[in-house]
Amino acid sequence: MSLIDKYNREIRYLRVSVTDRCDLRCFYCMPKGFDGYEEPEDWLSYAEIERIIASFTRLGVNAVRITGGEPLVRKNLPELVSRLSALPGLDDLSLSTNATRLGKHAQELYDAGISRINVSLDTVDPVKFNEITQGKLEKITQGLLKAKEVGLDPIKINMVIMKGVNDDDVEDMVEFCMQNDFTLRFIETMPVGDTGRNAANYFIDLHEIEKRLAQKYELIPAVMKGAGPARYVQVAGTDFKIGFITPISQHFCDTCNRVRLSATGTLYMCLGDEHKYDLRPLIRKGISDDELDQVIRDAINLKPLKHEFNENPEKVVRFMSMTGG
Ligand code: SAM
Ligand code: SF4
Repeated sequence: MSLIDKYNREIRYLRVSVTDRCDLRCFYCMPKGFDGYEEPEDWLSYAEIERIIASFTRLGVNAVRITGGEPLVRKNLPELVSRLSALPGLDDLSLSTNATRLGKHAQELYDAGISRINVSLDTVDPVKFNEITQGKLEKITQGLLKAKEVGLDPIKINMVIMKGVNDDDVEDMVEFCMQNDFTLRFIETMPVGDTGRNAANYFIDLHEIEKRLAQKYELIPAVMKGAGPARYVQVAGTDFKIGFITPISQHFCDTCNRVRLSATGTLYMCLGDEHKYDLRPLIRKGISDDELDQVIRDAINLKPLKHEFNENPEKVVRFMSMTGG
């Protein structure tokens, strides 16, 4: 069974946001002081999420990433992880987190079935970290060390690169990640929501960063397990890998294999578009499993050919925290 969109792309990967809330305020993602969140009673329950993901796995999706907002803000997340890791056909279950709560939860997440994580970290300078996120760097480093100690592997660090904000932190981040056996991935800013559009003013083409790093390190092409679009290089003579995620300078829409489920049960077909399908009312009305599978198949046909971040940057009004990046 497979899920193929009208442009013949096979959908194998689902990102699931479990809450739109977050305990940080990265300025490129969520507005300072924002509190216009969805109400928890509107979130899908863990049983409802499990049901929707079971349908996706019946249709051939084999990779799921739990995200948010900050997914660890939602209570009892390991319970959801245990339920999902028992689903037949789901062989890659991962988590995106800001790591503020990993010190406390890394062990139980690992025990429940998360094997690998992605962590957002844009700088290792504590003052700058606070300026970007309103949070404390120390909590993140503690969380990362705990994640490493319990055996989460690989740990990928996602760094959104912004000119004049943290582009001069790249070399420090390389050293930090190299020392700790983390993989480092650079991401171009995307004009998602007003916050993302403001941050797009700091956009840098990641090819520039790669050229700069190539003057300091010998970089050779590399491959890395994962369902995503990052292109990897490796520092010669080490196991250290660097990924480049370039949705703006070199889009990868023709090989896009994913859709996103929001915390309230809306299926978003593209990060750079508003095409969506609301599954929650159908689930709450008592739709059968066969009907749910058919609805998802039909919804996938709404997936657009490509994002329009460059041509139409005003298009996406929701914040990144609603769909989890
Ligand atoms: N809170 C978790 C975290 O920060 O990893 C998960 C959700 S967060 C929305 C997922 C990813 O989206 C993070 O790596 C974050 O840096 C990225 N992100 C948020 N806003 C962005 C933007 N405007 N452009 C590019 N990436 C963005
Ligand atoms: Fe929160 Fe992640 Fe958005 Fe930062 S990027 S505000 S940590 S959801």
